[in-house]
Amino acid sequence: MADSTMPDRHVRLAIVGSGPAGLTAAIYAARANLAPVVISGVPSGGQLMITTDVENYPGFPEGIQGPELVVKMREQAARFGTEFLDSNVRNVDLKHHPFMLDTGLTGIVHADAVIVATGANARWLELANEQRLRGHGVSACATCDGFFFKGKDVVAVGGGDSAMEEATFLTKFANSVTVVHRRPELRASRIMQDRARRNPKIRFRFETEVTDVLGADSVSGVVVRHIPSGKHETLDVQGLFLAIGHDPATEVFRGALELDEKGYLLTTDITRTSVDGVFAAGDVYDHRYRQAVSAAGLGCMAALDAEKWLAEHPAPAHRPTSHGSDSSPTR
Ligand code: NAP
Repeated sequence: MADSTMPDRHVRLAIVGSGPAGLTAAIYAARANLAPVVISGVPSGGQLMITTDVENYPGFPEGIQGPELVVKMREQAARFGTEFLDSNVRNVDLKHHPFMLDTGLTGIVHADAVIVATGANARWLELANEQRLRGHGVSACATCDGFFFKGKDVVAVGGGDSAMEEATFLTKFANSVTVVHRRPELRASRIMQDRARRNPKIRFRFETEVTDVLGADSVSGVVVRHIPSGKHETLDVQGLFLAIGHDPATEVFRGALELDEKGYLLTTDITRTSVDGVFAAGDVYDHRYRQAVSAAGLGCMAALDAEKWLAEHPAPAHRPTSHGSDSSPTR
């Protein structure tokens, strides 16, 4: 149960997550007079908050900084009556209706419908200089940032389909792409491997790991270690792209909603989760496109689906103020 002294509240629609998917869902739901509550997550705003120049979001011909785009979306959602709780969901009960979301210090939220838009986080190597140079030559999204590496030399880390796809995409701009992979063989599908291997701009360093990133304000080199020999070498590159997978932010929903083997939400009919009345939006189930604009589009779809579902399930006259003794939170 919550640590909060805040009273329980009941809402028609709760949206969990405040990246482009959650905020677009909020804009649509608020304009449909559903007075949604967004449980924004801490830190809020999702992956755009760690993105510098966004040049592929329509409507901003000069580009826009990721955090500024989030602020604008949030203002737009607030303008139509969205309420924000700047907290994390710590516990859920999706077996009983209305659904229960425990948000800790901001209290218990009972919701007739829920949109889960908690996103996915790119995996990082967790090197100190990698983190310091994020957005300054270090990126986990070639589609977003490849354009800034025209004529430069870059490293792409990973041996899966994402690494092959990102390396191939980067050759549109970069002079050379060195794929650094920790094993002697790739795990990517044969077709993706072959495409990358045929590309004259891509070279491979197997059984090699990145141990450091050099540069004061931007990347000036990447230090790698050949694992069998232990030998270190500095690659003269200006960019480092991580393609070592993503982790969906679904831990709190484990056991309450069906997940695939990697932890992404399973959906049918685009936005419907395994629980009737709970919808999904954005990277929390879309591991294919992972773009701000596609997440926003999915947020729109989830809000329209939730709105229709709520119209078909009118609010009961009597509302419990708490879940009572028979509630059994799933986590
Ligand atoms: P993935 O298949 O899990 O591959 C991640 C890669 O990163 C692996 O090679 C792994 O090495 C490496 N790695 C993980 N942690 C690392 C670390 N700390 N240091 C160094 N290397 C690390 O992830 P993905 O490539 O993002 O693909 C995810 C899913 O999406 C897959 O099912 C994939 O097929 C699919 N996908 C499909 C397409 C497409 O068809 N167009 C494109 C992208 C992704 P190990 O090999 O040693 O484990």
